[in-house]
Amino acid sequence: MMRKFLSLVSATCAGAVLATDSVLAKANRLETFVFNLSENRIEFSTQAAVQPKGMVITDPTRLVIDLPGTVFHRPTVKRPIGNPIQEVRVGQPEPGTTRLVVEFAPDFQMGNEPLYLTPLSPKHWSVQLPSQVAALQQRARSSFIWPLIGELTAGFGWRIHPISGEKRLHKGIDIAAPIGTPIFAAADGVVKEAGWDDSGYGNKVVIKHFDGTETLYAHTNRLFVSVGQTVKQGQPIAEVGSTGRSTGPHLHFEVLKEEQLLDPLAVLPLRYILFDVAAS
Ligand SMILES: [Zn+2]
Repeated sequence: MMRKFLSLVSATCAGAVLATDSVLAKANRLETFVFNLSENRIEFSTQAAVQPKGMVITDPTRLVIDLPGTVFHRPTVKRPIGNPIQEVRVGQPEPGTTRLVVEFAPDFQMGNEPLYLTPLSPKHWSVQLPSQVAALQQRARSSFIWPLIGELTAGFGWRIHPISGEKRLHKGIDIAAPIGTPIFAAADGVVKEAGWDDSGYGNKVVIKHFDGTETLYAHTNRLFVSVGQTVKQGQPIAEVGSTGRSTGPHLHFEVLKEEQLLDPLAVLPLRYILFDVAAS
């Protein structure tokens, strides 16, 4: 196999200077790995600062990002995507290094566009993929819209809490955005609940939709609707806050059908592919 470095450049950022000793002393961990389809980039975050190393390997074309000092306590996670990206996977080829791989179709030509590993913070990085990758197949039209456009910071499902180590079900998805950003009704419906929730959700809105599905919007700041009110899809219903049990401004969004929790990413228009790196 021919290996060739293209210009995948580790851009420097004042905040990204790594305290190597402290990272190596305490094993770092991958927290999120997301393929953002609408922005055509991959994004990942770790518990502590990391200095990723990226390379492009040709024949077959593949983008490899290694995260030194980062452990991945699971078998390799693979997700088929389509064309020209065939598969994305996360694994640990050797102890203490987590590896993210984007596998392209064998005949795919990367072109001369430079790729950059861009630090959004020392713990959060993104790679903008070549523009010709953008043509990805779309899911059949969803009847929902995204309630908020922001950064997807947590997915749905069982996960190990980073601090307590406990296994917990995360009942929805988290989307981070600044306080005051408007949150929109995901579909037409009637407001079933609007107000303070003591169980940790803070200021919360629940909308019952006409097909029986319910959507829940938690940790909000101001509410713009009240119980019994009819709302239209896309109507602002609240604004992003950090109320209740929340560590920063974000929307916690749940979807329920016949009292069963659904994965919101499975019902919303395809925008992200989330790699379930936090699950057990
Ligand atoms: Zn949440």
